[in-house]
Amino acid sequence: MKSSVNLSAGRSYLAIPGPSVVPDQVLQAMHRASPNIYAGELVEMTETLIPDLRRVARTRHHVAIYIANGHGAWEAALHNTLQPGDRVLVPASGRFAIGWSEMAEALGLEVEILDFGTTAPWDLARIAEVLEADREHRIKAVLGVHVDTSSSIRNDVAALRRLLDAAGHPALLMADCIASLGCDRFEMDEWGVDVMVAACQKGLMVPAGMSFVFFNDRAAAARAALPRISRYWDWSPRSNPEMFYQFFGGTAPTHHLYGLRAALDLIHAEGVENVWARHAHLARAIWAACEAWGEDGPLRMNVPDPGLRSNAVTALHMAAPNGTRLRTWLEQNLGLTLGIGLGMAPPDSPEWHGFFRLGHMGHVNGHMIMGLLGGIDVGLKALDIPHGQNALARAAAVLAAS
Ligand SMILES: *Cc1c(COP(=O)(O)O)cnc(C)c1O
Repeated sequence: MKSSVNLSAGRSYLAIPGPSVVPDQVLQAMHRASPNIYAGELVEMTETLIPDLRRVARTRHHVAIYIANGHGAWEAALHNTLQPGDRVLVPASGRFAIGWSEMAEALGLEVEILDFGTTAPWDLARIAEVLEADREHRIKAVLGVHVDTSSSIRNDVAALRRLLDAAGHPALLMADCIASLGCDRFEMDEWGVDVMVAACQKGLMVPAGMSFVFFNDRAAAARAALPRISRYWDWSPRSNPEMFYQFFGGTAPTHHLYGLRAALDLIHAEGVENVWARHAHLARAIWAACEAWGEDGPLRMNVPDPGLRSNAVTALHMAAPNGTRLRTWLEQNLGLTLGIGLGMAPPDSPEWHGFFRLGHMGHVNGHMIMGLLGGIDVGLKALDIPHGQNALARAAAVLAAS
């Protein structure tokens, strides 16, 4: 460390790919006495969340709200549509797809993983082969992670629907949009997605603790055909806000609901399309800086093709252990926290310390992204990590060309 002055006091910045930065409006909405959970404002307000959640997911269909994180929504989606022995296909381009498949296996489902590694998107031709070979339609669902937060790869969910249709395959199409909802364009109905899972702490900007399963009538029919379903995870009462107490299987997540109301107000005041455009523009500035750093140093983005990158998260690599050194230094000295690498190398291996990630989802704007990039530039210099110059100028040029 070259300076003994510590510059970390002031507002800290958590730039990890979830939980994301919580807007002051959301925090203020949550800062209140506990409301009545049986009648009155909370009950009426909760009903207004449903249409506004649908508008973010671009669906006319149903949504169930769970007091759970994303893992809970993963399990709920599977539990409401499938039963032990059913087969699911999981095309994977990162750790989160593998995680969802492990959950499926634990529920007694028969899992077929098509693992495309951590730097490539789904190989659609390979998936088509598997679907076409499945003439008996033993595969009941395809589980696709839209943006895999570990690799930062964005997969083509609409193309997966086209494959299913071309093969005349009736499997349900399920999408994990936990990282992408409210960041990368996602069109549930237009893309023919039957079930979509999301959580509140990423693009939806609410502290962790609430998650969502969106489902259409095909998925509801699969639920209706099941012989038995867990009372708690059943999505039927949870998609009917008139049954308020059953809606949450008990006490409502009171403060989270107020937080979500404020977050949805922010999203819809800006407009979902504008929210996506903001994420896309900020992501381009980040990538311009990363390219510049990489020109004269070993920093590289995990996904070489910009067309396959998510606008919500960027996975990066440097020579180990510089990823960990940079993260640690930035947190201790500048109050800036970057994300750890996930699923790219074994956690106990030396290589693990080369990977890190930037979260740029939700409540982020131009000056925050310039602050994020500026902080990284400071850290690279303070630690004498080789890097190309002009990163900040390149990012500024991207943002200036709005
Ligand atoms: C964060 C995330 C999850 C897990 O969500 P939790 O709330 O941590 O359970 C699953 N899938 C994706 C794509 C994610 O980004």
